Amino acid sequence: MSKQPADPREQEEWGLETRLVHGGGLRSAFGETSEALFLTQSYIYASAEEAEERFKSEGGFIYSRYANPTVAMFEERMRLLEGAGAARATATGMAAVSASLLCFLKAGDHIVAARALFGSCRYVVEDLCPRFGITSTLIDGGDLSAWERAVRPNTRAFFCETPANPTLYRVDIRAVSEIAHGAGAVVVVDNVFATPLLQKPLELGADVVVYSTTKHVDGQGRCLGGVVLGSQAYVKDHLHNFLKHTGPSLSPFNAWVMLKGLETLPLRVRGQCETAAIVADHLAGRTDVTRVLFCGRSDHPQAALAKRQMSGPGQVVTFEIAGGKPAAFRFLNALRLIRLSNNLGDAKSLITHPATTTHQRLKPEARAELGISEGMLRLSVGLETPGDLIADIDRALAASRI
Ligand SMILES: *Cc1c(COP(=O)(O)O)cnc(C)c1O
Repeated sequence: MSKQPADPREQEEWGLETRLVHGGGLRSAFGETSEALFLTQSYIYASAEEAEERFKSEGGFIYSRYANPTVAMFEERMRLLEGAGAARATATGMAAVSASLLCFLKAGDHIVAARALFGSCRYVVEDLCPRFGITSTLIDGGDLSAWERAVRPNTRAFFCETPANPTLYRVDIRAVSEIAHGAGAVVVVDNVFATPLLQKPLELGADVVVYSTTKHVDGQGRCLGGVVLGSQAYVKDHLHNFLKHTGPSLSPFNAWVMLKGLETLPLRVRGQCETAAIVADHLAGRTDVTRVLFCGRSDHPQAALAKRQMSGPGQVVTFEIAGGKPAAFRFLNALRLIRLSNNLGDAKSLITHPATTTHQRLKPEARAELGISEGMLRLSVGLETPGDLIADIDRALAASRI
């Protein structure tokens, strides 16, 4: 490597957009403009002594399960974006979620989690952890007294997703972090829906933030990826060894795609938020739409909390149409531009019917508890021309009434 752009302290002073374009860059001897893709498993040592030294110090690169230059660039750019002490990338968002918890919990510990969780996160907390003696209590994350009541002497972690999929239900990160810290627990926040731009869990008091970078960071529907961000001590004492020895490493190729995705993240998220606000207002004005849930609207039951802890509305609009599942299905099948997919954060607008897809696994009572109705649809707004999305929605609403 030659001509490193700037030292990390200088990079921390850069504005957001600059950090996302240049942050963490490692330029090779060829002086390439675009970050290099180091598609290599291992690294060659000039001598036996150098190999011995590198293993001893763990400095430099040894094997790409532990560290890789392209992955390191992505981790550092994410660290600069989040303002965290350290970051580690993983193969998927779920690898990030499970590693963030399993790296420091042990049998006998207890987790308190908000029950409005991404399906697989709920599996990790509700089914997987208890198999290894880590018990869990799922609560209503919007109710501060429920967090307090769930604390036990062995509670070591609080876990939540906010805003949560698909109802955009919110958890007060600052208040919940205070309760957790009073109980000696670590707060882990899944910040996917807010994106790293619109909500800063670490500044609000959380200890660890996780992302599925599959979503907005890639933002163009290509690669799976994840990242865990926290203090240097958390990464050094717990996360690093867990990842190194269990191996859910991010592929250098996927890291490279994510790294380039970060360069345009603010432009994309800003554009998506603006279009989502237009779409949400349009839906709210329709009499055949019975409910609109959007973080930017003042009619959301937790509007004040969104205002306090988020700097933008996000790009997911959840709404409910009259006529339950049959009408929802007619609506979906009449769409011509908005695509049916359970993914989100893509440049393409994507829509899903949570009750029969992402939340199908839950019993009807559990869905009702989360406020997921049969006529509910979750729309991830993309980067299309707003008028085209609205025309597609209006055409599908007309078809849903037949
Ligand atoms: C998608 C998602 C995940 C899982 O991420 P993968 O990259 O699909 O493994 C976790 N949490 C939330 C909130 C998500 O939206």
